[in-house]
Amino acid sequence: MPLVTLSLRHFRNFMFFLPLSGMHNILDTPITYLKGVGPHRAELFLKEFQIRTYGDLLYHFPFRYVDKSKVYKVKDITTDSTYFLLKGKISNMEVIGEKRAKHISALLTDDSGSIELLWFRGLQWIKNQFSPNKEYLIFGKPSIFQNRFNFVHPEVEEVTPEQNNDLVGNRLEGIYSTTDKLKNAGLGSKGIAKLMRVLINITNQEFSENLPDYLVKKHHLISHKEALINIHFPEKPEMIDKAVRRLKFEELLFLQFELLLQKIVTAGKIPGHVFEKVGDSFNTFFNEYLPFELTGAQKKVIREIRADIKSGKQMNRLLQGDVGSGKTLVALMNMLIAIDNGFQAAMMAPTEILANQHYNTLKNFLKDMPVKVELLTGSTKTKQRKEIHNGLEEHTVNILVGTHALIEDTVNFDNLGLVVIDEQHRFGVAQRAKLWKKNTIPPHVLVMTATPIPRTLAMTLYGNLDVSIIDELPPGRKPIKTVHYFDSKRLRVIGFMREQIKQGRQIYVVYPLIKESEKLDLKNLEDGIENMRRDFPLPDYQISVVHGQLSSEDKEFEMKRFIEGKTDIMISTTVIEVGVDVPNASVMVIENAERFGLSQLHQLRGRVGRGSDQSWCILMSGNKLSNEGRKRLEIMVDTNDGFRIAEEDLKLRGPGDLQGTQQSGMLDFHIANLAKDGDLIAFTRQIAISVLEEDPRLQKEENRLLLHEMRLRLKGKTDWARIS
Ligand code: ADP
Ligand code: MG
Repeated sequence: MPLVTLSLRHFRNFMFFLPLSGMHNILDTPITYLKGVGPHRAELFLKEFQIRTYGDLLYHFPFRYVDKSKVYKVKDITTDSTYFLLKGKISNMEVIGEKRAKHISALLTDDSGSIELLWFRGLQWIKNQFSPNKEYLIFGKPSIFQNRFNFVHPEVEEVTPEQNNDLVGNRLEGIYSTTDKLKNAGLGSKGIAKLMRVLINITNQEFSENLPDYLVKKHHLISHKEALINIHFPEKPEMIDKAVRRLKFEELLFLQFELLLQKIVTAGKIPGHVFEKVGDSFNTFFNEYLPFELTGAQKKVIREIRADIKSGKQMNRLLQGDVGSGKTLVALMNMLIAIDNGFQAAMMAPTEILANQHYNTLKNFLKDMPVKVELLTGSTKTKQRKEIHNGLEEHTVNILVGTHALIEDTVNFDNLGLVVIDEQHRFGVAQRAKLWKKNTIPPHVLVMTATPIPRTLAMTLYGNLDVSIIDELPPGRKPIKTVHYFDSKRLRVIGFMREQIKQGRQIYVVYPLIKESEKLDLKNLEDGIENMRRDFPLPDYQISVVHGQLSSEDKEFEMKRFIEGKTDIMISTTVIEVGVDVPNASVMVIENAERFGLSQLHQLRGRVGRGSDQSWCILMSGNKLSNEGRKRLEIMVDTNDGFRIAEEDLKLRGPGDLQGTQQSGMLDFHIANLAKDGDLIAFTRQIAISVLEEDPRLQKEENRLLLHEMRLRLKGKTDWARIS
């Protein structure tokens, strides 16, 4: 997550320029004041949907619409993809089948034909409901069985002489999502619609336009007020699409304004150390010790970083690159520039193992250079810890690698100029914030992540950050071969694993769970270990086991044995997901692969393919796969491209589940959908950019409404986690 802790203060300064109107907005009224909502319903609304105020309820939009304005004929039923309202007589009712297969079948007949109605529940009641001489309205979505349409559990209502049937409406009806608890309190979709009508009647005078006229005209939008009314009670079908487009447009546009304003404000205000030159450390390393050519993408990213760190403003850059793309090296070269300019650098990793690995990597790269690298973790002994502390204060230590131990209060740098954070989403905001207090001018920050993020998601999640992307792997890598096997082919896989071990390779076996849940038929880790021990017996095979229930010392011990090549197989849960580097490990076996998300599978696969040997990722699954599960495995077999996988993941699961985005309130859209509205996201971002290029502080009269909206949105923001 972005790292601009200081921005809050600067933002307040900015907000100071914005006129504050003290007006109370009716939409902030607590929902209990709405006629028809007592304390009980209010509590349910809050619990089930976080609906607290009039405004919250107003933005609880229907998720689809049904058209009850037209009574169709049986012969009109040509699709099972929408709802139909029919009118006719019900006859031929019979109870069919025995015991659990028992159901009721009947025919609905109008002057165009007949269609079957079916009930599988409440048979006792249904049996005596309908009289063959009366007319009924039936409403539902047809299904297809043996090439014929029928209705299962339709809504049925007797036609009354007064023509005031509930089922026949004279307009489109919005369907609201609801829950069992709400339904029990009379708040099914219809109940919610009733409240919505009351609410809109008393509030619609306040639905004032929030976009400048020139934008509304240029982009052919309906007004804010029309959109809010029509999204709930559309006048005619065309209005639904128009309302949806308008509301998505403003939601996404305002978000982009927020992000871009934050960027403008922070970029303009937070001073940074100036790293003017590229000196001896960098040049010596580059010319004499760099063991390979940099890739084009690495060069591009280093150039982007260099422009930042000599600008006089604090760098806050997110470095994205697939596993193995060479981010660590980019970070190292950046740290050497810091050193060349008289500064120290720090590199933080989320676990001791990773910190150790980074330390060893850096030491190895720098072994013939006069750059002092130290490692500080929870297990650093007191005496050595003291020495490191002294070294940092006296500036004899140039680079400090570590875990969060590195941000403890006793650690004082003489002159910290750059912080590199690996695998950002594992660090808490508060932890990061601690770093900056150490200096008056904050260090530059480079956050590295191996979790690729789709472009549109990056635009929203990191729209206030600078992003660099390494989109190229070093040459000569053998792409990992990914295959999918059903459990029934296990013997072949075991044979293959033995073969690889015979050739001196090591293997990961990953399980999704530690304890089998009774409901899910998952092969649990303990069973797995037992089977593995049988298939790979001592003394020929050595096995390490790591899972979340082990103490961290035991984990470290087991990992170490594997890293040092003392064991052949590492059986684990997903704890090995991040960053571990064992080039000799060439096979990744993922058990119950269908249970993992795509990004997680991709991360796991990235653990192999780090050496010169051909590597394999073997996805094991049960024979029964859901459509989505099968799709995920197909994508994995199909591509090694992390960005493509991220895009597919976003499409399949939606953004809420993407790694690293869970806690981000950012993605709670009312109506926009990150996975589907990519084009509109890019479009609104472009609009916001061009408006701000002309008028960076929204001071022009024509942008008055935008300024007002931004003021409202930014005023209430107490949670700055996203940008801190
Ligand atoms: P990441 O952190 O992005 O997953 P690393 O920085 O760990 O990737 O790099 C993976 C491996 O590739 C390391 O062994 C590293 O030394 C090597 N490497 C990095 N850049 C290059 C390059 N330009 N050419 C060849 N190998 C490289
Ligand atoms: Mg790495």
